[in-house]
Amino acid sequence: MDHKEFRVKAKELVDYMADYLENIRDHKVYPGVQPGYLHKRLPDHAPETPEKWDDIFKDVEDHIMPGIVHWQSPHMHAYFPALTSYPSIMGEMLSSAMNVLCFTWASSPAGTELETIAMNWLGKLLGLPECFLNEKNDSQGGGVIQTTASEATLVSLLAARTRALMELSALNPDMQSSELLGHLIAYCSDQAHSSVEKAGLIGLVRMRYIESDEHQCMRGDKLEEAILNDKAKGLVPFWVCATLGTTGSVAFDDLREIGPVCDQHSIWLHVDAAYAGSAFICPEYRHWLDGIELVDSFAFNPSKWLMVNFDCTGMWVRDSNALHRTFNVNPIYLRHENSGKAIDYMVGTQHANTRRRIETEILIKGDHEESVISDEGYPPSEESSLTDESDEDVKSQDTSHVATIQLENPNKKELLHWQIPLSRRFRALKLWFVLRNYGVSGLQKHIRESVRLAQKFEALVLADQRFEIPQPRNLGMVAFRLKGDNTLTEYLLKRLNARGYLHAVPACFKGVYVIRFTVTSQRTTNQDILDDWTEIKTVASEILKEMFG
Ligand code: PLP
Repeated sequence: MDHKEFRVKAKELVDYMADYLENIRDHKVYPGVQPGYLHKRLPDHAPETPEKWDDIFKDVEDHIMPGIVHWQSPHMHAYFPALTSYPSIMGEMLSSAMNVLCFTWASSPAGTELETIAMNWLGKLLGLPECFLNEKNDSQGGGVIQTTASEATLVSLLAARTRALMELSALNPDMQSSELLGHLIAYCSDQAHSSVEKAGLIGLVRMRYIESDEHQCMRGDKLEEAILNDKAKGLVPFWVCATLGTTGSVAFDDLREIGPVCDQHSIWLHVDAAYAGSAFICPEYRHWLDGIELVDSFAFNPSKWLMVNFDCTGMWVRDSNALHRTFNVNPIYLRHENSGKAIDYMVGTQHANTRRRIETEILIKGDHEESVISDEGYPPSEESSLTDESDEDVKSQDTSHVATIQLENPNKKELLHWQIPLSRRFRALKLWFVLRNYGVSGLQKHIRESVRLAQKFEALVLADQRFEIPQPRNLGMVAFRLKGDNTLTEYLLKRLNARGYLHAVPACFKGVYVIRFTVTSQRTTNQDILDDWTEIKTVASEILKEMFG
């Protein structure tokens, strides 16, 4: 495809995309295909010779579209929202064309600086305390865009693990990290997302699940009891994940109780607000953030409810050095001059004062480092080749040296790292487009409308004696069921999904099976909710008739 064809076909594609989204109701939300359907329809080899765009695109209509779950549909009620919007799509389009990798400031100055700015805007919009923002020179806090809430949870756990191991190894200089690791223990509620369990698995640490209360919330007293028991057994509690807006029932762990417990026991407190975090742009929902001042890291997904395309998870940390210590590597090809005014999300310096500490440390590490990273100039060009043998030497020297320094002196700052991968997309662009094009008022209106529609659905369910809502509704999700045995609700959900008019998924609260009905799309109307309810009632009547006559 040359640029002439691209200009024509891409414009057609934009029309196709707008038609798709504006006529989304024409699609059955859930496809009727069976596993393996696409393998039967597509060749098992890539084409030997170039194919025409029109032929390729015809296959989208004929074969791809029939296998799509239409997440933007007003009848999509499964999971949590994964919304897009026109400004966000434009952000994706433009960043696709530029395809910059924003790992250091030097690799894309605008990409890095826009991320810092957009994360500050977003942090202020949520009402996060100043210590989480990138704004102040003396602040060690800051925001970064991660790919997913799962990754933010893992990054937080790994940072807390490094901090705990450093403290433990200072107290037990003769013990290896692997030995110390066996003493660490992390906590979350029994309602936490599976990604928290996964973070523990990857981090090789034990995870204790705290029994939630009757409203599915983790409470401070139960957490503290578990911590004290574990300490008595010789374990070292180091990380707690609180959830604001659980996946099953949008329940909120009590930060006002949990924060002081973590503070007292010097435990890193992470908040996973993957879905509910978007609601905090509305002041009336911020009471769930009470206690945030004792939190170490906080993450939510604008890619869920805030109409920013997947992937985009906002993560804020109180002490970004904890991340840098965890992910620090320092190959020569990533070094560049940085005045200290900009963040390098993968490598580099953050603030002027941090810069000074780095320079002090470089002096400790020796002349070679100093000459490479000095403010006086860029590294010599012959040293910047990825394949240069000297690179490998520097890399291995650095790694061992850094590890020693980290363990010896936990307060020293190193070159700064914010994430697991090196490369990062220019995701700030779509976020910035959305924040500007909707404005705060437009985004708040969107959140409030979803909640209003969920309230409407809740009222419809409560007015029908055959149904119940076992847990209070929070925000845009209603978890409901047919009264009686779980199997009734299981049949109901199975049949609803098979019909494909609407799509939902289940949850189970202490043995009680429910259907989660989330208002997802910004296109959902009163009539859509009424139509969904008619569909649910119709299928429920069929099932009850079949079961009880
Ligand atoms: N945490 C919570 C509370 C969630 O509900 C979800 C997914 O819905 C996740 C984490 C995982 O999100 P991600 O897919 O961004 O990793």
